[in-house]
Parts: sequence; structure tokens; C-alpha cells
Amino acid sequence: MSTPRTVLVTGGNRGIGYAIAQRMMADGHRVAVTARSGEGPEGSLTVRAEMTDAASINAAFTEIEAQLGPVEVVVANAGITRDTLLLRMSEQEFSEVVDTNLTGTFRVVKRAAKGLLKGRFGRVILLSSVVALYGSPGQINYSSSKAALVGFARSLTRELGGRGITANVIAPGFIETDMTAALPEEQQKKYLDSIPAGRFGQVEEIAGVASWLAGDDAGYVSGAVIPVDGGLGMGH
Ligand code: NDP
Repeated sequence: MSTPRTVLVTGGNRGIGYAIAQRMMADGHRVAVTARSGEGPEGSLTVRAEMTDAASINAAFTEIEAQLGPVEVVVANAGITRDTLLLRMSEQEFSEVVDTNLTGTFRVVKRAAKGLLKGRFGRVILLSSVVALYGSPGQINYSSSKAALVGFARSLTRELGGRGITANVIAPGFIETDMTAALPEEQQKKYLDSIPAGRFGQVEEIAGVASWLAGDDAGYVSGAVIPVDGGLGMGH
């Protein structure tokens, strides 16, 4: 059993974020989730936050700190897609994705950093994607935002690694959630054909890796990109 921590999962009302929050609770941590609608799993603290708005993120942290104490583990999970081919992609579709997935992560981690430094302990876990480094047609906005998270985690490791803070990236492959259900059937089949495991992943398989990264056993792991993709992106 790992040391109980205060954990924040952004976008914890559904999908991968919900499963991570559930797993962190089962591990004995104090868990808060941000949600724009709905709730996190039973027993977690749900606070409202919009990733594109620093003030709302600040307010969410203030509420969590008051109720659960300083955040020690940050799981930056909230993210969106706005898929379309480059020639059809508007600047707004590009910026919206970057603003949520990348700048949103910046807003959350920046707000958390002071508390992590004060406590001389922190685990920062960023949700990237196999397509960050593998590439994906129709996802120039999304894959760019997710690739940037690798540089983010590695720079953070170099800045704060000496203060008991680690930063790592999980790169999920195709995981069955609302996000992937929205993909055309033909594209889903194409993916399936190229996944060595021969199946799509389950949210619990991402949650297990997040749980390990937050736990005592992962204290010397930082700046890593951990693929959880059934072998889809091998070698990227
Ligand atoms: P979902 O679409 O199921 O859930 C996305 C979550 O992010 C929701 O909780 C949503 O909140 C929240 N969110 C989105 N935009 C904002 C915003 N502007 N402010 C606050 N919250 C926001 O996604 P998944 O669970 O599938 O994915 C979770 C993470 O994992 C994402 O970062 C995704 O890119 C990544 N990922 C997923 C893969 C997959 O196969 N599913 C593969 C690789 C990476 P709300 O309910 O209010 O919209």
C-alpha cells in the first residue's frame, strides 16, 4: 500500500479520468476531480473547473485545498479532439484544442506547483496519446497538443526534479470511451487491424498505470513516456 496522498484528476466525470479517480480512491488516496458537468466517482470531491479559464482552475484548487489539503498528485487528463484534415482545419479548431489540452495543462500544473514545492513532494501525470509521436491524419491539432506534453513533462522534470517532484506522461492508444466512440467505424477498424494486442484498451488499463506513477514505487521515474497502447506505437 502506498502513502495516501491528495490527488486531483481533471475531467474526472467520465471516461479515463473517472476510472483514474476510482482507482486512486481504491488505492486509499483522497481524491478530487474537476468536472464541467456531472460528478466524479462516489466518495470523491467534485469541483467545477473549465480548463480554458485560469480563474476557474484557481477557484477549484482553493476549494480542494480547503477540503482535502494541498494537492500532491496532479493528473492532467481533461482533453478534447476537433478532428479534420489540415486543409479544412480552421485556426479556431487548432487553437481550441491547444488551449484545452496544452495550455489547460499548463494552467493546472502552474497552479499546483507552489503547493508541490512547499510540500517537497509531487507527482505530475499528463495524459498524452499514441498519436503524439505516431501521427494521425485529421489530428494535426490534437497530436501537436499531445506531443507538446512530452516536452512539458521533461522540462518540468529538469526544473523541479530536485524537489521531490516527478513528471511523467501516459500515452494511451485506442481506449474505449466517448472520445473514441465518436470516430467513424471505418477508422476504428483500421486502428484495430494495426494493434498487435488485437483489441482496444479499457479505461482501467490506463488507471492502473496512473496508480503506479502516483505510488511509492515510482519515486525515481521522471520524464518518462509510458505507452499503454497494446503495442500500436512501438518504436516511436
Ligand atoms: P472523454 O471525451 O471521454 O472525456 C474528456 C474529459 O475532459 C471530460 O471529463 C470533459 O469534461 C473534460 N474536458 C474536456 N474539455 C474540457 C474543458 N475545456 N474544461 C474542463 N474539462 C474539459 O475523453 P477520454 O476519457 O477518452 O480521454 C481522457 C484523456 O485521455 C484526454 O486527454 C484524451 O486526449 C486522452 N486520450 C484518450 C484516448 C482514448 O482512446 N480514449 C487515447 C489517447 C489519449 P465534460 O464532460 O464536461 O466535457
